[in-house]
Amino acid sequence: MAIEITIDRDLCMGSGNCSFWAPGVFELDDDGVAEVADVNAQPADKIILAAQGCPTQAIAVVHDGTRVV
Ligand code: SF4
Repeated sequence: MAIEITIDRDLCMGSGNCSFWAPGVFELDDDGVAEVADVNAQPADKIILAAQGCPTQAIAVVHDGTRVV
């Protein structure tokens, strides 16, 4: 199952929700902005939940070709 994650770094306000709910997939960089570290570090359902929990809707997730977040 292919999962693609896009983070709009201009929208990210560095809350850390994503890295809390899907550690290893999302990390905050030195500027406190989220980045994708390893898409395979967590199962898809955890990634989707983490993306849905982003307070600024900065994360887009495409799962098997379908935009799910
Ligand atoms: S949950 Fe959203 S706003 Fe918070 S760090 Fe992740 S991408 Fe940024």
